Amino acid sequence: MNEFDAVLQNCLSERVRVESVRRENELFVLRFHDDADVLQCVEFWDKSLERKSFRISRRLAFAYRPNLASRAHEDVIPWVIGVLDRKEERLVAWMAAYVETPSVRPVSRPPLFLRETWLGVRILRVLPRSRSVARAAQIVLNEALEQAGQTDDVQIYFETRCAQSCEFCEEPRIRDKLSGRTVTRLLTLQHELTLDLVSSGAFEALVAAIAARDLRLTVTGHDWTGHPHVERLLRILERYPGVRLRLQGPSLAFDSLEMARRVAALPALEAIVTTLQSSDPAEHDAMVGARGAHARLVRALENLELLKVRVQLSLVLTRRALRSLPATLRYLKERAWTIELSAFVPDQALGDVSDKLAPLDELRRAIEASIPEARDTIRSLVGVPVCGVPEIMRGKVALVLRTDKRAATQFGTECADCRVRLACSGVPAGYLRALGTRGMVALRVGGST
Ligand code: SF4
Repeated sequence: MNEFDAVLQNCLSERVRVESVRRENELFVLRFHDDADVLQCVEFWDKSLERKSFRISRRLAFAYRPNLASRAHEDVIPWVIGVLDRKEERLVAWMAAYVETPSVRPVSRPPLFLRETWLGVRILRVLPRSRSVARAAQIVLNEALEQAGQTDDVQIYFETRCAQSCEFCEEPRIRDKLSGRTVTRLLTLQHELTLDLVSSGAFEALVAAIAARDLRLTVTGHDWTGHPHVERLLRILERYPGVRLRLQGPSLAFDSLEMARRVAALPALEAIVTTLQSSDPAEHDAMVGARGAHARLVRALENLELLKVRVQLSLVLTRRALRSLPATLRYLKERAWTIELSAFVPDQALGDVSDKLAPLDELRRAIEASIPEARDTIRSLVGVPVCGVPEIMRGKVALVLRTDKRAATQFGTECADCRVRLACSGVPAGYLRALGTRGMVALRVGGST
């Protein structure tokens, strides 16, 4: 039981059933069911904040949510406000000690992730019994969906070589190894013989089956825009206006207005998903390992904005990304763009990346230095340990989505006493070895970090 429960729950429970109390920026919002079991909301805040109120006490102001006022049962809202008012001193103390607890959002269902080469091999395997590439592709998809269980999103990952070498990506490491070079040779051969997914008709069959099941399709990969049959790929997507479509990748090709127009015209396009590591061109280019990438990406984003295409930006929180994070968020705010910050949870193939892990104390300082811009600009913080986020931003933390290839996350000794442990993703495996419990601060009941 927290301090708020101890102070108020008992008095209020005479007439109402408290559901929750949370902070929303400068306001505290109390939600409760009244004696007619109608859900009601009362807000309270420090009265120095100028805002229309229902009642002002010595230090606080109170109001009810106008949209619910019409449903207020008799005088229950004035009564609740009266109780809060009489408990003002305790309430002020509780507000000062309040620690934001992230809401445990339901983790969305993991996507079904299908790599181009894996699909090619599986389709060839079932081809003798299915007698057509299209039928074989549908069988492979059905089997994969059955194994994956419930999913909303099928991701087709084209392995066309990417021009970038992002510091958080395993692909540049794999492609230089013998097995990676073999895969590239095999794909090149398939493309030349037009036996690849797109030319063979397999991709179209997959898109048709995904549309028929009303699933989302994400076309992704190292860089799908570099596919030798990209024109044919786009024509296929045009033929399925009913499929909910996202296009994910470096997106540099949209620096061509012609190419940007081409995707903007896709009837089912929901969003383009891409990564911006820094507003500083040199820093961004260094993190993605490609000179000139920042300039091309910004041109691409401007083209897409001009064409009113929805863009979802993300930034991977490596240690280097923290250096320019405040400037990046200011830049985004000026442009009215938003971003999702993702914890850097390294893929196993990356090897030792301890120097790239962001220490939680540095992460927290970088976000703190970005307030107020961070509040408007950061859409969510995915997989970021809660204590690495300033209190005011903790409501935007979401749990990390786990995948087979990613190293697991883990918890330190500090976490045993932490009250947000169940709403926290922990730190990447390897963090404790590289940095110990640096920056990990248990959040305790009634206290702050
Ligand atoms: S102390 Fe551990 S459980 Fe608590 S917020 Fe930090 S990492 Fe998460």
